[in-house]
Amino acid sequence: MLQQTQVKTVIPYFEKFMRRFPNVDDLSSASTDQVLHLWTGMGYYARARNLHKTAKVIANEHDGLFPKTVDELVKLPGIGRSTAGAILALSMNKRAPILDGNVKRVLTRFYSIEGWPEQIKVKNLLWDIAEQNTPLKSFSQYTQAVMDLGATVCKRSNPHCLECPLNSGCNAYKLNEIQNYPGKKPKKPIPVKKVCMYVLENEFGEILLEQRPPSGLWGSLYSFPEAFELNEFRENLETDKNLRFKSAHAEESNLEPFRHSFSHFQLEIQPKLLKVLKNEFETNDSIPRVWYSFQNPVELGLAAPVKKLLSSLSARK
Ligand code: SF4
Repeated sequence: MLQQTQVKTVIPYFEKFMRRFPNVDDLSSASTDQVLHLWTGMGYYARARNLHKTAKVIANEHDGLFPKTVDELVKLPGIGRSTAGAILALSMNKRAPILDGNVKRVLTRFYSIEGWPEQIKVKNLLWDIAEQNTPLKSFSQYTQAVMDLGATVCKRSNPHCLECPLNSGCNAYKLNEIQNYPGKKPKKPIPVKKVCMYVLENEFGEILLEQRPPSGLWGSLYSFPEAFELNEFRENLETDKNLRFKSAHAEESNLEPFRHSFSHFQLEIQPKLLKVLKNEFETNDSIPRVWYSFQNPVELGLAAPVKKLLSSLSARK
């Protein structure tokens, strides 16, 4: 949960998640919808799917016990070298270096290492330094300390250098060049993709949601039917033999468009409201779908913009 997300954001999700899935067996036997539902709003849903898959692997292939080596841990879905190191050091007090975003920031500043930390050459150098810095005892204390130093003292902006226990040896601090580290990612223009989300509403005020494919953007989450060319869906609806929806619709109108930002692109969303009759509504495929009721919402994983659009629809009623 803490990959890419701050502790204070994670805490309520973590507490709810642990109440519902207190151990690996509970998590491994849950449905994908139950897991994604508890993740709704936190983003980076691949983490939830990977955590779920990992729980299944541990329950089914490791007798419910976590592997104890980096090589075995990195074979589990969603666990890279740094997460493996953190698991070993923090939960088993074993010696294994870590190099998460916070640690990269501390190391690049302390040793004034130039370049973007994700560049292979820079990353390899940082791993070497992380390995050398990992002590021969007290692994869990060291790992927790270096992560916390990056999160709370050597912060991205306005680091607390005066209070930092490393300031006497820190190159960036001594040279007054903290703003130069870590090096920035070379810039590329962020593309904008346009999508039309179809809000199919029946006569009872329920909204049709369908499950997305398990991999790719918002994998396994529920979303509105969508088309990437604004009129593609409409044409399909009326002309294509393989159309997904067969029922006629009487009214349609555009709702307020909005944008959602991802790290690598922006999504411009045009919601389009279509009124349909529930009993006459048919589909031609086996995609899982639900009629979402605002009065009695089912537990589903929803992507942030889908949740946002549902909230604005609910407020309209
Ligand atoms: S002195 Fe400042 S820049 Fe250097 S490690 Fe400490 S907080 Fe980071």
